[in-house]
Amino acid sequence: MSEICNTCGLPKELCFCEAIAKESQRISIKIDRKKFRKEYTVITGIDGAEIDVKDLAKGLKNKLACGGTVKGSVIELQGSHLKETRDFLVTQGFALETIELDEKSAIRPPRTGGGRR
Ligand SMILES: [Zn+2]
Repeated sequence: MSEICNTCGLPKELCFCEAIAKESQRISIKIDRKKFRKEYTVITGIDGAEIDVKDLAKGLKNKLACGGTVKGSVIELQGSHLKETRDFLVTQGFALETIELDEKSAIRPPRTGGGRR
């Protein structure tokens, strides 16, 4: 029926562990560029032992209508969604002041002639 929390032993719907954990994360969101200047939104700092990272990634992918992957407790979303990601995390119970946006990373670097190595 309902899942039991590993931390407090209560059914998930009565458990506050995740809610408490969500207020004490130190999350950082930045934009990463890989090959061919493709942009990714990378979310780090989530405690995978306390937060269901996969579930969170699923919610983000639905909300932002993008693809993404989970590597350990790091979420990588396709595209640049810095503020949208933060806003979504806040709606999910994460505390705004614990989320750090790397706004500089969202600025596209100027194109340097040619570019291909
Ligand atoms: Zn619990």
